[in-house]
Amino acid sequence: MIVDNGIFTQMQTNAWQAASGQCYGLPCAVTMGDIRSHISKYIDICGWNPKKTHVLCDENTVHLMAQDIAALYHLNITILPKDVKPSMQVIEKLVKELRGQNVNAIVAVGSGTVNDIAKMASFMLGGEYGIVATAPSMNGYLSANASVIDHGVRVSRSAHMPKHIWMDINILLEAPAYLIASGVGDSLSRTTAQADWLLSHVVLNTHYNSDIFEMQLPYEMHVFDHVEKLLKGDSNIMISLAKLLLLSGYGMTLAGSSAPASGGEHMIAHVLDMAGCSAKQRLTHGIQIAVTTLAMSRIQQKQVEELLDRHITVPDFNSQGLEALLSDEQLKACKGAYEEKAALFAQKGCALVSEANIKAIKQVMLCVDVLEDVASRVGLKNKPQDIGWQTKAFNQAIKGARFTRNRWTFLDIA
Ligand SMILES: [Zn+2]
Repeated sequence: MIVDNGIFTQMQTNAWQAASGQCYGLPCAVTMGDIRSHISKYIDICGWNPKKTHVLCDENTVHLMAQDIAALYHLNITILPKDVKPSMQVIEKLVKELRGQNVNAIVAVGSGTVNDIAKMASFMLGGEYGIVATAPSMNGYLSANASVIDHGVRVSRSAHMPKHIWMDINILLEAPAYLIASGVGDSLSRTTAQADWLLSHVVLNTHYNSDIFEMQLPYEMHVFDHVEKLLKGDSNIMISLAKLLLLSGYGMTLAGSSAPASGGEHMIAHVLDMAGCSAKQRLTHGIQIAVTTLAMSRIQQKQVEELLDRHITVPDFNSQGLEALLSDEQLKACKGAYEEKAALFAQKGCALVSEANIKAIKQVMLCVDVLEDVASRVGLKNKPQDIGWQTKAFNQAIKGARFTRNRWTFLDIA
């Protein structure tokens, strides 16, 4: 059975209308439901030449449909090691091999890493890709950017969206619990990212689009209200989580930046990631983001009360605290990004925050208690120590994160 896609079906005919009156379309297809028993129908839709189509998966996902698809269409298949990283080295090697085989379309079977590798590789090939999603673990499926590792540093690279996404709800429900929790963890940050994006808009008049959140809200509420059912095989809640993650990724594509899904909470996690604090524990992105979102939410709830008519200033770049965590090369990259932000501030000046602005910001924020409750009901940890991050490093990351990126957030006034 194929699930009614609601918002995506409307978007495919440009017919989803926000309260603002703006209509939104979607340049790719989303199919959800019992895909496993109907594979043949769905791959055909893309119109790819089987002689030029390749299957990409990893050792964890090869048995989840990758082999069936390859056998059905007589396609060659690349099985990546299960601990593969989306490094440019891996991607460039794959591109070279596929170019040699005249491949211009990739059917990827996997989640975060496989999706990033397929997205970037098919973009570099000048071709297309489709993804059979195997876990609801992150929001990158509908994003046009790929998260890759270049010279040891994780960066977001412009790429493209998939032509088609297939989501088998039973496969998503059978995904390991930590990957399901991870998708919820990444979704928690909508509230802190939106508050940061809105603050930047108020203070610096940067772009902001509330329609992106209007798309997500019904699914976020459904998931957060019944989050514990995700681990008990409830397909309705899983469909909502899948839609929420897709729309969060699409929001970044619509915004032309990751701002609607990535604020100060992602910057804190990014510092710890760059410092290698997450490597030993092999933490997924969403598990880290749950912890940093709770910390960021506490910062925002304190700061929002002190915003009225406050005169905001921008200090010079300060690497103190970061020096213990980052290399000289990383610090240099951070300084360049921070100086872009300082220059924007100098150019635009800073508006005072009114009572109406504060009210609007508070409206998009969720209480820390609510976030903690949602996190714990799906088995996510709340504290940095619970996921192996040392308190000292965590506090240094909170203090230094504002200096690492050109994005304006509540960390800039903390
Ligand atoms: Zn994220």
